[in-house]
Formats: sequence, C-alpha cells, structure tokens
Amino acid sequence: MISPAEPYRIKVVEPIRLLPRHQRIEKIQRAHFNLFLIPAEDVYIDLLTDSGTSAMSDNQWAGLMVGDESYAGCRNFFHFEKTIKELTGFAHIIPVHQGRVAENILFSTILSIGDSVPSNNHFDTTRANIENQGASAVDLVVEEGRHPELEFPFKGNIDIQKLESFIAKVGPNKIPLGMITLTNNTGGGQPASMANIRQVSQILHHHKIPFFFDAARFAENAYFIKKREKSYSNKSIREIAQEMFSYADGCTMSAKKDGLANIGGFIAVNDDSLAVRLANLLILIEGYPTYGGLAGRDLEAVARGLEEVTNEDYLEFRVNQIAYLGKRLSEMGIPIVKPTGGHAVFVDAGKFIKHISPHNYPGWALAVALYREGGIRAIEIGNVMFSKHHPETEEEILPEMDLVRLAIPRRVYTNSHMDYVVSVFDHIIMNPSCIKGLQITYQPPILRHFTCRFKEINP
Ligand SMILES: *Cc1c(COP(=O)(O)O)cnc(C)c1O
Repeated sequence: MISPAEPYRIKVVEPIRLLPRHQRIEKIQRAHFNLFLIPAEDVYIDLLTDSGTSAMSDNQWAGLMVGDESYAGCRNFFHFEKTIKELTGFAHIIPVHQGRVAENILFSTILSIGDSVPSNNHFDTTRANIENQGASAVDLVVEEGRHPELEFPFKGNIDIQKLESFIAKVGPNKIPLGMITLTNNTGGGQPASMANIRQVSQILHHHKIPFFFDAARFAENAYFIKKREKSYSNKSIREIAQEMFSYADGCTMSAKKDGLANIGGFIAVNDDSLAVRLANLLILIEGYPTYGGLAGRDLEAVARGLEEVTNEDYLEFRVNQIAYLGKRLSEMGIPIVKPTGGHAVFVDAGKFIKHISPHNYPGWALAVALYREGGIRAIEIGNVMFSKHHPETEEEILPEMDLVRLAIPRRVYTNSHMDYVVSVFDHIIMNPSCIKGLQITYQPPILRHFTCRFKEINP
C-alpha cells in the first residue's frame, strides 16, 4: 500500500496557470532576474515561502463569518486566548499581527545594550530585532546541524556544552533570556528533541535565565519528536506540544506558519509583571490587548488553525510530502539538506552547480532557471542573501552554503504538483546550460535580495 493521499478533499479551487515559455522569459527579464519582483499571478507553483500561504479549512472560513469586530473584548479573542492557554499552559496571551512584532515588543521590553540571547539558530527577523536593541543574537546549534549531507534526527538541537560555556563566559546577568527556534528554520526546518529542550530548560533555569520558544513550527517539531524520539510514539501531538511548552517561560509565535492562517501571531508569557509591560507597549504600537493588530475574524482563524494543526493525519501528510519531494530529487542525484525538515526542501546549489563561479550566484541562477523553465518560484538562501563585504577591500565574502529553498505551503499543493516540480528539475539536469551565471547591476545597502537587480552572463 502507498502512504495515504491528501487527508482533505477540494471544495474551492483557485486557478493557477503556467505562462508560455516566451512570456516567462519576458517576465524574468522585466524583473531584472529577481523573483521577488515577479507578480504572483505569473507564477505557476509558488514555493517562495510557507509563511501566510496556508490554505484555510472550511471550518476556518466559517469562523471568519463569526468574527466579532468590537474594539474591546471581542468573543474571538476569548476563543484565541483559551485555545492558546490550553495548548501552551502559559498564563498571558498577547495577540500581534505577525511574528516579528512579537519579537520587537518582547526584545524592546527586556533587552539592553550589550546583552546576549543564545538560541539554536535565530531566524533572520529575530536576529534583526535583537541586534536592533544593541544586543547579540548567538547561534549555538549542534555541530551536526551545520553539515547538510549528514543524517541526524535532531539537527535543531542546541549544543549543551557550548551553551554552558557561553553562560560561563558572558555571565547570566547579561542573558535576559535564552531561546530555541522550533523547528530550526534557518538550519533547514530541523527539529529539536524533547530531551534537548528539557536540558536547555534546566541549564537556563539553574542560572535563573528565562527560556522562550520561537514557536512558529511547534506542531511540525512535535510530530518529529513523536516519530524519532523513544517513548513519545504513543503520545498525541497535543500532549507532546504541551510537554514542550511546559519547559519554557513563554514564546513568540508567527501564526502564519503552524497557525494555519494568513496573518497573525502572539506572545505568551507566565510572568505577570512582564505581561503588563508587554501589553503597554502593544497598545502603543500594535493595538488594544484583545485584538493586537488583528481583525476579530483573523483571531478566530488562528484559534481554529491552532486546533487543526495538531491533527496527526494532517502532519503526517505534510511531513511526508516534503520527504517525498526530497527523496525524488535525491534519487536524481541532486544534493539536498538531509534529512528533509518540516516545511521545505533545501537544494545544495553550491554543490550541484559546478559550471558557475560562486561569485556569479549558482543558487540564484538555479532559482531563475526554475522559473524560466517551469514557472516555479523558489528562493535562494545563500550567496546573494548572506554575503558580506570586506570593510576595506570591498571583496565579497560568501556564506558557508549556497542553498535554494523549496518551501511548501500548507494544504495548498498536491503531490501531483510535487511531481511536476521534479520533472522541471529533471529537465534542468538534462540541460544545465539553462542555468546561467549572474552579475549584480544594482543593490541596496541592506537586505539586498529583496530588490537587487541582475544581468545574466555567459557561464
Ligand atoms: C516567520 C518566522 C518569524 C517571523 O514571523 P513573521 O510572521 O514573518 O513576522 C520568526 N521566526 C521564525 C522561525 C519564522 O519562521
């Protein structure tokens, strides 16, 4: 028997179309070879991100109709609050319109210049919000997490030894909180184990340092714990998630991921006085504490999404769909980050594409080829996104890896779409000259990947 197909059927459809090749060529040229600058309607399969791109269920759409748009005390807030309290056990639930606002409010309340925040790997908005307070975002992921080809069940774990020596070095009073990103997005959507979460919690609490989760993909992390960690195979996802949260003092959450919603997020904390300070800042920059920048109907969609996301059939299909795409690409000889994580397949373009110099951006060139040859939009997480410039020589210093991420939106594409993606890769392997090196013709000083422009060169 093959593994079960999609655990849902289709009630509403949204047409997508594959433009003819000559139009795709024109579109990518007009976008200066930057896929962020292509209108979404000109994309056939959009794997740019899994953030805010989930398909909502009939139950969530029905929830929108019972949105209560009262300014204060809307009923949907109480449902939102109750759902999150039951799931996480945290005492105070503060809604925000997306994850980075949760980070901004939390960090600007508790961080001072010179502080440090250790984690496995900080996500980029998390890092930016920490650094914006004059503090350092410190990555302490286990060594296994830094080797793409290595199979290891919990590549999102924090290195316990490194954590202990880091605390000893800077001193606990310079660490207002420690974090862990679940799953570890920057490291390829890799999970952390319950044992690791528990140990990190013990160490931080021993030093009286609060422990927070960046919980964007907590349900996917819980599913990996169930599948890979002894003694959790008979527990429900909900029980596993509840145990995970029991080791922490709070979390930030982007509900655009495992909230199965198109917008939303929250901060949850146990500390009463901290909750008051957070709520005061929330009122200043985001909204009244019973809506936090969201419409009542959005709060309802998140509440219902958080109830659905711990469904094991859903998670099994989701994680298997990503594993399926990864396996098919691997079988064709395409190097990917292993094992596949919870939300994306990461193609190791630096290793796969040899005919283009790293300074002509092989990863970005592959993403351009995927669009031109197949109408697929993926994102480079590599030499364009992360290069630094030497302060004196202006020389471009490349990151360790040049990856292309195929992020899979939740409940949006079927496995037949995945087969199509595989066939486009097959075509590209057969015709490697369709991947062409690039030169930057314009770049802004920060976050250049969003708006920079390129021209193609002959490899
Ligand atoms: C997406 C994401 C965020 C930021 O959330 P937004 O809703 O995009 O603002 C923070 N951390 C992780 C791990 C994420 O994936």
